[in-house]
Amino acid sequence: MTASIHPSVDAGIQPGRPGFAGGRLRCHCKNEPVELVVDSQVAHNHACGCSKCWKPAGAVFSVVGVVPRDKVHVLAHGDKLGVVDAGATIQRHACQVCGVHLYGRIENTAHPFYGLDFIHTELSSDEGWEAPIFAAFVSSVIENGTPPSEMAGIRSRLMELGLPPYDCLSPALMDAISTHVAKSRGLS
Ligand SMILES: [Zn+2]
Ligand SMILES: [Zn+2]
Repeated sequence: MTASIHPSVDAGIQPGRPGFAGGRLRCHCKNEPVELVVDSQVAHNHACGCSKCWKPAGAVFSVVGVVPRDKVHVLAHGDKLGVVDAGATIQRHACQVCGVHLYGRIENTAHPFYGLDFIHTELSSDEGWEAPIFAAFVSSVIENGTPPSEMAGIRSRLMELGLPPYDCLSPALMDAISTHVAKSRGLS
């Protein structure tokens, strides 16, 4: 049996479109959905196995990427948004009616990823978003109830899909975090 990862990748991954410059995201409410406009292509799009990122019902992973925070604008029904956990590093702004997370924002200016918002491009009907390129926090799916015995199948399926599995973030993002730390120590 092929391991299921997320509905948007299980049937194969569509590549992004060069020149694509953003689109609209909507929550799952049938009436008065929260609407966001994002004036940017997504970067570092990836499957995430952590327990905090929003994922659709039944998905083992979420799919999440980053965009500059100044490119994210709430277009409609922003009054339905609330922060899921105000104490979390990433403040996830969710629709309080359907539970979908519209964007995650870092307010700590010293954080390596300050200035980037986290979004789920599956909330957009616009086509051309950059495809996911790796899988992060893969081992964490066990904490969400996936039996450890399924991990070998999940990791091999991720490899097959072209999503190299990591148990934290990708080497590029881990290097970015450490570079930020080195700079803050005056070492780089
Ligand atoms: Zn909603
Ligand atoms: Zn996550």
